[in-house]
Amino acid sequence: MTVGRRGYAPTVEPPRDDAAATDPLLEGLTPEQRDAVTTAASPLCIVAGAGSGKTRVLTRRIAWQSATGAIDPRRVLAVTFTRRAASELRRRLRRLGIREEPAAGTFHSIALAILHRHWEENGRRPPELLQNRTAFLARTMSRLDRTTVSDLSSEIGWARARLVTPERYADGAAAAGRRPPRGAAFTAERYAEYEQAKRARRMVDFDDLLALCHATMQRDERFAAAQRWRHRHLFVDEFQDVNPLQFALLRSWLGDESTLVVVGDPDQAIYGWNGADPELIREVHDHLPGVAVLHLRTNFRSSPEILAAAGRVLDREPQPAVRPAGPAPTVRVVEGADEPVELARAVRGAHRPGAPWAAQAVLARTNAQLAPLRVALESAGIPVRMRGETALLRRPEIVDLIDDWNGRESLAGRIADQTIDLEPDPDTERQAMIELFLLLAHDHLALEPDASVDDFLTALRSDDRTESRRDAVELATFHAAKGLEWPVVHLVGLEDGFVPIAHARSRAARAEERRLLHVATTRAQRELHVSWCRTRRRGDGVVAREPSPWLHAFVTDEPHVIAPPPVSYTHLTLPTMIIRCR
Ligand code: ATP
Ligand code: MG
Repeated sequence: MTVGRRGYAPTVEPPRDDAAATDPLLEGLTPEQRDAVTTAASPLCIVAGAGSGKTRVLTRRIAWQSATGAIDPRRVLAVTFTRRAASELRRRLRRLGIREEPAAGTFHSIALAILHRHWEENGRRPPELLQNRTAFLARTMSRLDRTTVSDLSSEIGWARARLVTPERYADGAAAAGRRPPRGAAFTAERYAEYEQAKRARRMVDFDDLLALCHATMQRDERFAAAQRWRHRHLFVDEFQDVNPLQFALLRSWLGDESTLVVVGDPDQAIYGWNGADPELIREVHDHLPGVAVLHLRTNFRSSPEILAAAGRVLDREPQPAVRPAGPAPTVRVVEGADEPVELARAVRGAHRPGAPWAAQAVLARTNAQLAPLRVALESAGIPVRMRGETALLRRPEIVDLIDDWNGRESLAGRIADQTIDLEPDPDTERQAMIELFLLLAHDHLALEPDASVDDFLTALRSDDRTESRRDAVELATFHAAKGLEWPVVHLVGLEDGFVPIAHARSRAARAEERRLLHVATTRAQRELHVSWCRTRRRGDGVVAREPSPWLHAFVTDEPHVIAPPPVSYTHLTLPTMIIRCR
């Protein structure tokens, strides 16, 4: 493969400094960033730490190159990690004055669009899409218990991402230090059975879309050439989390005329468990021959105090900051039973007059931790939004739950006999997700008592756009917070077992957990509030918890100043322990 052998049209010169100074699309960029926007090099890889402007540079580059005629925006394909990031990128480009909307999407959505074009051109009927692998496995392997099915589903996902076939699974899993459910031979057999069951029903799953798109690009040279011409300027954000299957697909989209820009940060590689391969960015010279690599060194997002903590999480020198000094991170330890109320208190305390609620985010390692916190914040009158709520509908336990619900029946009647425990055990994520789902249903009924099941499901599916405009504190997992930023961030549940998560036992898995904490920490711009619980409820009892081994990163010599409790909480006399460690 040759990537962009011919580079850009020869008429395009990088701007001279005086041009850069007057070009509004280059305004507000550092010289390093400006080089990254204007260099004619291709392939180009921008490797830089959190908050250094990678996404900003990517967007500006598309806009600047479009404005200067170096590229035609209709020929751009921007690959983002989530659909929301894709629409955010389009929004930013519109604001920068790019009227021709470039194509942007995830690997999956782009692959599906390409396949649809191919099927249409060839008069072929699209295969049936298998939406939920876990639910399918549960149906076809009904003798297996839920945990095994769920573990098998993740393991098959990992193997597909790593291009490991059922025949090679045992070796591949051993080499990668995986822990196959019920042993490698058992997992390999179920993996083969799964592939067979899909074929027999003429179904494809999401990973098949990537593999099929790749195979189509290899097989149909005429179609592939047209595709490579249509989208000949490729831009990839969050390159550190690309997996080998996605990388193979990306390469198949590149032709001799193509240009490629990838941006990423090896210190934010957090999807290895899912098959991502950070070696692709670490060893980018091997994977993209002839690549030019640029670095951005300054952090524009966070205060020096937050960057110091982020550096300590990774045991590294902190990134240089441009933001002014701010408050040191605060650390609290509370009893588990008090966590929701203490969080509500902290969120109110950090709510500045006139500032939007959306200036704050609450981040946790798992979704299950967030469910009860959401309820507590709402009952304290704090508007909240849970990132990825629509994704709830794709979770296997929810798919199972609503499998036999009739869309036209009354929602109230349907959930009448479902009980809700407002304090789900945070370790049982599935249970917590069901409870969250039922709570959302109750919320919906409070507004619309006669709602049907379909009304509720439609509201859940369609709320993404309107939701993102509502002023609310955002609740998200560390993973879902990737790429985002807030002035005030609350990191909750910094305990051993969550951070790192209990099942991360290998060195590689623990290193990934540590990077994940680094990602969460670097979301904060101005204030960072960290908390952990010394006890938590487990079933009928209460168990003691230990702090995260990385908690020390947030502890400083400065006294922590915590805002006084707001009036609305005076009836709740729950003790807050603020630790001042050294
Ligand atoms: P992450 O690794 O978390 O995805 P990133 O490297 O993509 O971060 P951006 O999100 O592009 O970083 O930028 C971080 C913040 O810094 C944004 O608010 C962005 O607008 C701001 N920023 C970036 N560059 C500059 C600059 N030259 N001047 C002012 N603000 C900047
Ligand atoms: Mg980014």
